[in-house]
Amino acid sequence: MNMREQYINAKLSWIAKNTKANIIRELLKSTSIPDMISFGGGVPDPETFPRHEMAKIAKDVIENEYKISLQYGSTEGDELLKAGYIKLLKKHNGIEGLKSENIVITTGSQQALDLIGRTFLDPDSICAICSPVYLGAVSAFRARDPRFITMPMEIDGPDINVLEQKISALSDDEKQKIKFIYIVSSFDNPTGISLSLEKRQRLLDFAYSNDLIIVEDDPYGALRFEGEQVPTIYKLAQDNDKYEVNPVLLLNTFSKVLSPGLRMGIVIGDPIMVRRLVMAKQGADLCTSTLTQRLTARYLENYDPIVEMEPTLELYASKRDTMIKAFEDILSEIEGVTWTYPNGGLFTWVTLPEEIDTMEMLEMAKKNKIIYIPGEAFSVNEETRQLVKNSMRVSFCLPSHEEIVEGNHRLVKTIKEYMELKGLV
Ligand SMILES: *Cc1c(COP(=O)(O)O)cnc(C)c1O
Repeated sequence: MNMREQYINAKLSWIAKNTKANIIRELLKSTSIPDMISFGGGVPDPETFPRHEMAKIAKDVIENEYKISLQYGSTEGDELLKAGYIKLLKKHNGIEGLKSENIVITTGSQQALDLIGRTFLDPDSICAICSPVYLGAVSAFRARDPRFITMPMEIDGPDINVLEQKISALSDDEKQKIKFIYIVSSFDNPTGISLSLEKRQRLLDFAYSNDLIIVEDDPYGALRFEGEQVPTIYKLAQDNDKYEVNPVLLLNTFSKVLSPGLRMGIVIGDPIMVRRLVMAKQGADLCTSTLTQRLTARYLENYDPIVEMEPTLELYASKRDTMIKAFEDILSEIEGVTWTYPNGGLFTWVTLPEEIDTMEMLEMAKKNKIIYIPGEAFSVNEETRQLVKNSMRVSFCLPSHEEIVEGNHRLVKTIKEYMELKGLV
C-alpha cells in the first residue's frame, strides 16, 4: 500500500472497507476491445433514444421555463411530471386513483433502492431477495449491512415455499427484523423470468399476513414482446378491499423505455411510506434534476414513450428469437445446457453443466472475444454463489443478429476449451 492509500484507508468506514466494486460495471469496461462481442450489457440501444425530439424540447425548456428547469425544485418532484406519470400508469398499467402524495420522483430507480435501504433497514434487519438477484439492489441495501434471506428463482417466479420455511425457522425476535421482500416482477434482471399471476398473489398474501413490505421493482414491465399483461403486485393490492394497507412500493423508471441518462425514476406507494422516502431524499440530493424532470414532463405531453417503444420492442423480440435459435442450433452442442425463454425485457439466463464455473471461464471467453455476465455476479453469499456459478446472464438487445450467431460459436468454443482444460470431457 502506498502512502496515499494508507492515509485515506485509515479513515474509511466499515461499510466502505467492505464495499466491492460492482463486477458488472467493471466487466463492461472490456466491451471496448475491438471485435469483442458482448452479451453483457443491459443497456438500451442509443439509436432508440428520441434525440431530435428531446433536443427541441430541451431548448424550449431551458429558454422558456428556466425559472423552473434551472432552479431548485421540491424534493417530492415536479408536479407536471407526476401528472404525466399518473396518466401513463393509468393508461398502461390500469392503476387508478393515484395522487401526487402517492409519488416521489427519484434520481433513477437506483436512488429509490438507496432511499428504501436508508428508510427501512438497520444493520441487523433482514430482507428477502431472489437468487439470483439484481446486483444494483443488493449494493444499495448493503450500505445498511442487513442480512439477506434468499428464495431460489423458478420458471414462474421465486420459490415462496422456501421463503416460508426460512422465515418459520427464525426466532420470534428475528421475525420482527424482517422488513421487506425485494422482487423484479416482470422480465427479471438477470433471469428474464416474470412472476405468474398466482405467484404475485401468493407473494402479496404472504407479505401482508406477515406484516412485510414488498419492494416491486418494475423497469421492464413495459418491454413485453407477446402475451397478455399481468397486473403489478401493487395493483393487485390496490384493487382488493381485503388489504387495509397496500404494502407494496412500486418502482418505475424511464431508463429502459426512454433514456437512462435522464436518471428519471419514480416510487409509487402509500403516502406515509412515500413521505418517509422524501425525508430520506432531502438528505441525499435535495431534489432530482429539475432540468431532466421538466424535459421528461414536456416529452410526456407530446409523446407516449411506451407507444414510441413499439418498433424497438419488435427489434428486441427478433433478437430474442435469433438468440434462442442460436441456443438451439449452436449452444445445445454442450450437453445439459438450459436457458430461460423471456417474453420481454433484455435478458435470458443460461445454465451450463454443474462443473463449469462461468466466472473462472470468463478469461478464456475474453480471449475468444465474447463476454457475458457470470452468474456469480448475481449472488450475495457462498450459498447463493453455489447455486448460480454455472450460469450466465445473456443480453440480446445490443449485439446484431450476426453477432448473436457468431457469439454463440465463440461461447461453444470457450466452453469446450474450458472443459478440456479442466479434464471434464
Ligand atoms: C435497469 C434496472 C433498474 C433501473 O435503474 P435506474 O437507476 O432507473 O437506471 C432498476 N432495477 C433493475 C432490476 C434494473 O435492471
